[in-house]
Amino acid sequence: MPFIITDPCIETKDTACVDVCPVDCIHPRKDEAEFAQATMLYIHPEECIDCGACVPACPVAAIYESIDATPANQQDLVEANGVYRNGDAETMAKAEEIVRAHIAAQPALMAVPAPERQAAHATH
Ligand code: SF4
Ligand code: SF4
Repeated sequence: MPFIITDPCIETKDTACVDVCPVDCIHPRKDEAEFAQATMLYIHPEECIDCGACVPACPVAAIYESIDATPANQQDLVEANGVYRNGDAETMAKAEEIVRAHIAAQPALMAVPAPERQAAHATH
C-alpha cells in the first residue's frame, strides 16, 4: 500500500522527500520541467516500496504511511497521488484539478500554516 502526500505539501514543495526516496517514485523533481506548474508533489502508488524514508524527511509532515492512515479530509488527495504520471499532460491535469478542488473545499484547513496543517487534519 503506497505512501500518500497530502496538503501540507501545498506551498511547501521543497522536495526533501525526493532526495531520500530510494526508487525515485516522487514527482515532479526540481530538475523536471513539470516542477514549476505542480501545486504539490505526488507518490506513484505502484512504484513506492513502502520504505518510509520520506516521512521523517518531510518538514511539514505531509506524508501518510498508507491510504487507510490518510485522514478523511485528505482522501481526495489519495486519488491525486494515484492518477499523477509525470510527463503525461492528461493525468497531471487531473491531479492538479483534484488539488484545486481540495483547496477550494477546505478553506479553513488551508488557512492553517503548512507546518501546523497536519495537526489540524484531525480537527477540520
Ligand atoms: S515510502 Fe519510500 S519508496 Fe515510498 S515514496 Fe516514501 S521514500 Fe519513496
Ligand atoms: S518533503 Fe514534504 S513538503 Fe517537501 S516535497 Fe516532499 S511531501 Fe512535499
